[in-house]
Amino acid sequence: MGQNPRILKSGHHSDEFYRQMWQQLTTTGHWEGEIWSRRKNSEVHPKWLSISAVTDRRGRTSHYVGISSDLTAIKQTQDQLENLAHFDQLTGLPNRLLFHERLQQAITRARRSDHQVALLMFDLDRFKEVNDALGHSAGDFVLGEVAERLERIKDEADSICRLGGDEFCLLITKVDNIDEVAQAAQQVLGLFTQSFKLNGHELHLTPSIGISLFPDDAEDAETLIKNADTATYHTKKNGGNNFHFFQASMFEAVLTRMTMKNRLRQALEFEEFELYYQPKIGADGLTVRGVEALIRWVQPERGPVSPADFIPLAEETGLIVPIGEWVLRQACKQSLQWQKEGLPHLRIAVNLSAVQFQQPQLAADIAAIIRNSGLSPDFLELEITESIIMENLETATATMRQLQEMGITLALDDFGTGYSSLGYLKNFPINSLKIDRTFVNDITDHEDDRAVIITIITLAHLLKMEVVAEGVETAAQVDFLREKGCDLFQGYFFSRPLPAAAITRFLHDHFSRPEIP
Ligand code: C2E
Ligand code: CA
Ligand code: CA
Repeated sequence: MGQNPRILKSGHHSDEFYRQMWQQLTTTGHWEGEIWSRRKNSEVHPKWLSISAVTDRRGRTSHYVGISSDLTAIKQTQDQLENLAHFDQLTGLPNRLLFHERLQQAITRARRSDHQVALLMFDLDRFKEVNDALGHSAGDFVLGEVAERLERIKDEADSICRLGGDEFCLLITKVDNIDEVAQAAQQVLGLFTQSFKLNGHELHLTPSIGISLFPDDAEDAETLIKNADTATYHTKKNGGNNFHFFQASMFEAVLTRMTMKNRLRQALEFEEFELYYQPKIGADGLTVRGVEALIRWVQPERGPVSPADFIPLAEETGLIVPIGEWVLRQACKQSLQWQKEGLPHLRIAVNLSAVQFQQPQLAADIAAIIRNSGLSPDFLELEITESIIMENLETATATMRQLQEMGITLALDDFGTGYSSLGYLKNFPINSLKIDRTFVNDITDHEDDRAVIITIITLAHLLKMEVVAEGVETAAQVDFLREKGCDLFQGYFFSRPLPAAAITRFLHDHFSRPEIP
């Protein structure tokens, strides 16, 4: 009171700003707007100000009435919102939205001045395992640590962002030399040589990096991101912990995979799957003791496709579950057919995938299929790999117990290639071990592999398990394995996997004249 309002001036606005304000006030009698002002305690703050001229009876301006409201709180909220919208809250790095804006700007500038932009995208190999095994807070810790480490190489890039999940991105807005991009990728790899330590665990994590360049690989932001992603995928498929520049050929590979996936969806419907069967031969007397069912995808235009080529796709899409059920139903049907034809008791083995084992109701589903088929469970054997069990030790062991209680036999497939955790082996309700064919393959010229096989056979027998040798191709292998006490053989030496009609003929011939070959 009693002072000139000049003392409220913040000093934030130019003379021109006030000149325009006064000009509007004198011509229209009103002004309204956002203004920085000073409080009594001299603190500068934003406010909304509305000024109206008050005139006397003769129409002359006698007063100005100003009403202001403090905008400080609103401004703060706005800033916070801005931050929330543009920054990742876990790592403090710019998020996908801000990254898009920056990439877009970089492309616009690069187009004008005719230079290159590089996009380095990476994610962490097997990050899902960290989350699954140690919990999401452990996963969050790792992501935070990655962001911190990225800080060390911030000079390599113009922008470092977290796109979401375990995906990070480096943007180089002006590339002079492609080597400098490769060097940035090397720097990222270098950040992971040191392990991550949390709660007494030591984790070795590695990134898979993919790089795309504007304008060589793409003309727009969307495609540039997509191509970097494709390159990342390529790196991952080749074992991770590396980087690759995008190449058009990679895209074709992705495209074939995509069409394969779509075709796979229809394959069940069009009944394009077929089971082949390979006999398991007993070492004593060389008679057929069982058969293993091996799936084939017979595409009308391509002929039989190996399961190695489509099982991974079926697992990725989840289609392995209905496909696996189809295999089991088909195998039950075939077994009953052989019984009807008077063939002796033969166990039929069906392979199970890890994805099927993740289904908590797997044992119940299998029980239902067997019950519906009318097959006695002691005709059925299921083959699982060690990694399936180790990935989910408790539930897998429980499922195995349930299956065994139902009277189903269990075999451990590809033994020797995975964990080969002999300590655990005694806890598993397993009836037989199948020695992986890589060991069998090498027994004639590798001392080591002979030693491994002898050890596996001895161990399995101690644990009261039968031993099956896979991939037996020569008489020399048969002789060695027989001498060392192996119980069963499977391999091309006796028979390749055969379609139903051919194996049925094979079995009838064999049992009417039971000696091989
Ligand atoms: P696996 O269970 O280890 O099957 C043995 C593989 O070795 C078969 O390949 C078989 O044809 C091949 N093989 C057998 N004897 C010999 C031999 O003497 N020499 C050589 N070099 N190879 C031999 P296949 O049929 O291509 O199957 C590959 C894999 O696909 C199987 O490996 C199994 O893991 C998976 N698979 C097959 N059928 C199914 C199925 O119905 N469900 C699931 N989930 N997986 C399946
Ligand atoms: Ca198998
Ligand atoms: Ca195997």
